Amino acid sequence: MNEATRMPKAALDNLIAILGREGYRVMGPVARDGTVAFDEIRSAADLPVGIRDAQEAGRYRLAPGIDGEIFGVVNGAGSLKPHFFAPAEPLLEIRRERRGFKANEIASAAPPHAFIGVRACDLAALAIQDRIFLHDRFRDAHYELRRKDAFFVAVDCTRSAPTCFCVSMKTGPRATAGFDLALTELPGGFVARPGSPAGEAMIVKLGLSAAGGADEAAARALIDECARGMGRRMDTADLPRLLYDEAENPRWREVAARCLSCANCTMVCPTCFCHTVIDQTEIDGNMSRRVRKWDSCFSLEHAHIHGINLRPKIHDRYRQWLTHKLASWIDQFGSSGCVGCGRCITWCPAGIDLTEEVAAIRASAGKG
Ligand code: SF4
Ligand code: SF4
Repeated sequence: MNEATRMPKAALDNLIAILGREGYRVMGPVARDGTVAFDEIRSAADLPVGIRDAQEAGRYRLAPGIDGEIFGVVNGAGSLKPHFFAPAEPLLEIRRERRGFKANEIASAAPPHAFIGVRACDLAALAIQDRIFLHDRFRDAHYELRRKDAFFVAVDCTRSAPTCFCVSMKTGPRATAGFDLALTELPGGFVARPGSPAGEAMIVKLGLSAAGGADEAAARALIDECARGMGRRMDTADLPRLLYDEAENPRWREVAARCLSCANCTMVCPTCFCHTVIDQTEIDGNMSRRVRKWDSCFSLEHAHIHGINLRPKIHDRYRQWLTHKLASWIDQFGSSGCVGCGRCITWCPAGIDLTEEVAAIRASAGKG
């Protein structure tokens, strides 16, 4: 079965309850600290019902939305990333013993997670992280443990934030892969479609019946309208070549004059995976813990290798970030490192917009 079904809004509580009974820790977008991020939910009432977001470069606000609308907030600062690639993770403990030292690997332990309300761009970003942490030469055991039994309920975007450009990156606004169940929210309910055998089984457990053609057409129309109305775009034609050829373009220094090198863009980015490993030694010297922590190519130390710093200036670091995202990532992993979620634009305190930077570099290279 992979036909679309009709799901009343009240069935969302049933879905959450079933997932909870099956042992999942159920997560959904929750409003907190003026934004939304995935957190544990016990019912649909924990979701940001009747709320929408207002976003622009360097600006984010939650605002009253439409009564009864459950998934009106598009994306907040929090992506799926921290739930699979932890911001700080102990890997190893080394204890002093009477004779010598003993090292213990620290295993991650957590119940499987079910995520409700995942956007298409974030599913695309998770596939990129899978490529890095699971499908490269080495598999990351910590990531794999959290990832393997996760359940995803996607929500197709029927509105976009002005900072979104998933259409340019071909990742949205409709979820096409990586989900178990996908919902399109209509004023009176959802159109639900399965994306995996587990999603098909869930439709049976929920007792959903086939959607009418009118519901399916309404869902399609809303998603198409969202795609047409997307406020930002990025011309990706021959982008790697452009960025490699324009490594000395004066625009890198212009943007660096605004960039604070604060690393916000890399922290909120759902695909950035740079990390560092540090040893934390207890004050009595009897135990040392090795911890992996998120790092950023914007931090000065990140490019400090063998006594020299490869990227001492901010323009070196901004160029490294953008060129890796949009060019060398493709050489390395076979896809762009950007899914067009727009978070780095919204959460940049200087309002720096990568779509604007790419367009400016293209224009000054005479290729705009
Ligand atoms: S581009 Fe913006 S968010 Fe990124 S390091 Fe510079 S100032 Fe910070
Ligand atoms: S680079 Fe920016 S727009 Fe692209 S995936 Fe990262 S945060 Fe989203």
